[in-house]
Amino acid sequence: MTDNTYESEHFAQNWQQQLSGAFTRTEDLCEYLQLPLGQLPSPLAASQNFPLRVPLSFAASIEKGNPNDPLLRQVLPIADEQLTVLGFGNDPVGDLAALAEIGVLHKYHGRVLLISIGTCAINCRYCFRRNFPYADVQLGKQKQQAALNYITADTSITEVILSGGDPLLLNDRQLGELLEQINQITHVKRIRIHSRLPIVLPARITDNLLELLAKNSKTLVMVVHCNHANELNPRVASALSRLQQHGITVFNQAVLLKGVNDEALTLCTLSESLFALGVIPYYLHLLDKVQGAAHFEVSRDRALALLKALQTVLPGYLVPKLVTEQAGAAFKQYVNNGSDNC
Ligand SMILES: *Cc1c(COP(=O)(O)O)cnc(C)c1O
Ligand code: SF4
Repeated sequence: MTDNTYESEHFAQNWQQQLSGAFTRTEDLCEYLQLPLGQLPSPLAASQNFPLRVPLSFAASIEKGNPNDPLLRQVLPIADEQLTVLGFGNDPVGDLAALAEIGVLHKYHGRVLLISIGTCAINCRYCFRRNFPYADVQLGKQKQQAALNYITADTSITEVILSGGDPLLLNDRQLGELLEQINQITHVKRIRIHSRLPIVLPARITDNLLELLAKNSKTLVMVVHCNHANELNPRVASALSRLQQHGITVFNQAVLLKGVNDEALTLCTLSESLFALGVIPYYLHLLDKVQGAAHFEVSRDRALALLKALQTVLPGYLVPKLVTEQAGAAFKQYVNNGSDNC
């Protein structure tokens, strides 16, 4: 069977089938990408705790035969993950301290983040959750009521963020019930969905899901996660466009990653390509210092130089805010060039 037949048969499947057909073995991914295992930086099943996981829709955008592809680097376990690096920990953003209720992170004024499910469709090697016991704190059925009670009791909460893991991995029934319950809380004005699925598993954006989202009484915002313009294939473009046609404002957050998007031209192209699809660049995060991800770190000086390069060539609205998360802080910390121009 040729690759193309394999791909078109795969993409004709529904999203759950595509999800269960995701690559979970380095060998299979490398065979598909025509990469001899021996040619990779350090081929290794690096982590039992955080295995390889890559949907075909994302893998199809990786350049065949290129061991340094920026999309491949985001998902391929390598030996560097096993280095213990000073200053890198297991809960770099202070999530355990911020757990107001089971499944509720309340760090910032007016906004709570619900860990609606612990898993993702893709395992990003740099993820700050890679060592975090999310399975223990995700909502689950009984805990969901406690979380909703918490939000109902605090009238300062105007925005509920569904996160995870990836909240769009909930099935339509689970998601519909959750949204319906949040809709009943009058002081909540907005529901925000943090999801990487429109990028890595665009088949998830079904007519049924769109209908379910569109019938909400709250303003809906979606923040997707795309780090490189190559992730924006035609299937993704169509999913993003359909979300917007249903009244959803779509933003993007990216992580600044060495060897993936740490060049000015790459970041510039990312912003331009996102906006061409109606998506507004929101945050560019400095890497959270999670153990196992140190090889992705870009220095603060380099990050500032990249920001300046973007500011020099792009309109202000296409320059994402460069931010870093500081445990215990009241908002994400802006990293900027200190220009005093207000
Ligand atoms: C990032 C984050 C938010 C959202 O912050 P915004 O600056 O509004 O995008 C909310 N809660 C938690 C716990 C977060 O980590
Ligand atoms: S999609 Fe987001 S939460 Fe999930 S593994 Fe990737 S970076 Fe982590």
